[in-house]
Amino acid sequence: MILQGSQLQRDFALETDVLVIGSGSGGAVVAHELARAGREVVIVEEGRYIRPEVYGQWRPSQTLRRIGRAGGTTVALGIGDSPTINILAGSCVGGSSVLTGGVCFRIPEEVHEEWVRSLKTTSLSAEAMAPFYEHIEAMSHVSPVPIEMRTRGTELFAKGAERLGREVFPISRNTKGCCGCSRCNFGCPNQAKLSVDLTFLPKAQAAGARIFSDFRVERILVEGGRAVGAEGVILREPDRRAAHRFTIRAKTVVMAAGTLHSPLILMRSRIGRRSGQVGRDITLHPAFRVGAFFDDPIYNWRGALQGAYCTHPTDDRLIFIGASAPVNFLTATVPGLGPAWVQRLRSQMRHMATFGGMVHDKAGGRIWTRLGSEPVITYRLNPQDKASMLEGMRFLAEAFFAAGAREVLLPIIGLEPIKDMDQLRHLDLPSMPGSRIECLSFHPLGSCRMGADPHRAVVDVEGQCFDVQGLWIADGSVFPSSVGVNTQIPVMTMAARTAAAILEH
Ligand SMILES: Cc1cc2nc3c(=O)[nH]c(=O)nc-3n(C[C@H](O)[C@H](O)[C@H](O)COP(=O)(O)OP(=O)(O)OC[C@H]3O[C@@H](n4cnc5c(N)ncnc54)[C@H](O)[C@@H]3O)c2cc1C
Repeated sequence: MILQGSQLQRDFALETDVLVIGSGSGGAVVAHELARAGREVVIVEEGRYIRPEVYGQWRPSQTLRRIGRAGGTTVALGIGDSPTINILAGSCVGGSSVLTGGVCFRIPEEVHEEWVRSLKTTSLSAEAMAPFYEHIEAMSHVSPVPIEMRTRGTELFAKGAERLGREVFPISRNTKGCCGCSRCNFGCPNQAKLSVDLTFLPKAQAAGARIFSDFRVERILVEGGRAVGAEGVILREPDRRAAHRFTIRAKTVVMAAGTLHSPLILMRSRIGRRSGQVGRDITLHPAFRVGAFFDDPIYNWRGALQGAYCTHPTDDRLIFIGASAPVNFLTATVPGLGPAWVQRLRSQMRHMATFGGMVHDKAGGRIWTRLGSEPVITYRLNPQDKASMLEGMRFLAEAFFAAGAREVLLPIIGLEPIKDMDQLRHLDLPSMPGSRIECLSFHPLGSCRMGADPHRAVVDVEGQCFDVQGLWIADGSVFPSSVGVNTQIPVMTMAARTAAAILEH
């Protein structure tokens, strides 16, 4: 049973042992671990509760409107030579987990080593975290995508990349019974993608946890330097305005509202100011996608959305990952206007292959408070990261030409399609203004950093707030740096580690 706040007719108050704020990848895992250890757990979630068999039938535009954060319109405003980046996140019971492509990676060993060095704790080593990874991967059914499930576009990219001397590897995903309809990012229609609303949350409920949807936390309650709960508003339908207020008192509060919202709640509660880090130094894994037209039909939406990956020959901060989408969504990403464009898409969409890339970026983002419930976000793209992105686009284009593409579309606003390798070679990509890059982010991290020094970090190396006892953070916001790979397994694994620390305390 999930209590849907939108159906409540009054203010609401409750006392519990543990309050978890946010039901996404981090919150669901903590709630499960604490509930199965016998703690009384309540999860409050700002978004709606939508049953998987319902969201699975929606059109992509409906999904974006109803469970995409701010209807999919969140952006980081580019500062200096930077693009404006569209940041996607989920807001529903299950959080962003419902919208993932299902891609699963562990944090690379060298990132673990860097964290061990900079945070001065071996508890963040790949070895120390192995049991947490194993637990999360087993619960999420992580397994490699069979080669026969790759889209034709992925096959062509793999052929081209291999001709350029790069090995292409299968991706692992958290799926069971996937039929390959490339719809993962809009909620799986077959409940085959094992997002946390199908795994950790029902298991947490079975262990006694309660979930309240439509509950938006505004402020953490603090008494005598200790977190004692949270208060906020209960949202009504259909306009999602505040209808009632709630107060939940708890012995332990775990914040898992995600990288964009955990810092907002801290700012409103005036917590973490000593660190000077709340809402600062955010990383985004800036991502881009290259399209290529082939003579033969590709039907790029038939197969696993993301089936394979490879790395760049010289730039180890780049990773290339398969990227597809339902045909209507894919069509909307092809630049152009007017009847000639419509005609071209009608005849050509089935011939288009796509592949994506992203950068293991340096911190350049910042969240600013605002009176409303959404943050204002800015991002300054590091010049080295910009160079990597442009180089990544070149590599994807080269691979597609090596596989026989007749035309390549680079994600640069106003740039005409590239007809061949010669034209690509003569293109002055490095001097392209950052504002012309079409860029997305699915992995914001690091707005409430973990660290050893309370003057430079918001939470300690276990995830407890330096400034307020009994307040823990267990979401992407605590990451000390970007990780260079997709973030759901990293977030869930770090959350499982924090849950173990809470139980130990
Ligand atoms: C479109 C998309 C595709 C992705 N694909 C992949 C992929 O293939 N592989 C991968 O590894 N990762 C992927 N990711 C990233 C992954 O989903 C995230 O890294 C991960 O879910 C982050 O977990 P989190 O707990 O930090 O935040 P979230 O999962 O975003 O959860 C935060 C929750 O807190 C709620 N919340 C926010 N504010 C409040 C408040 N004030 N009160 C109450 N609740 C609140 C939100 O509504 C949300 O449900 C993708 C993300 C997106 C958006």
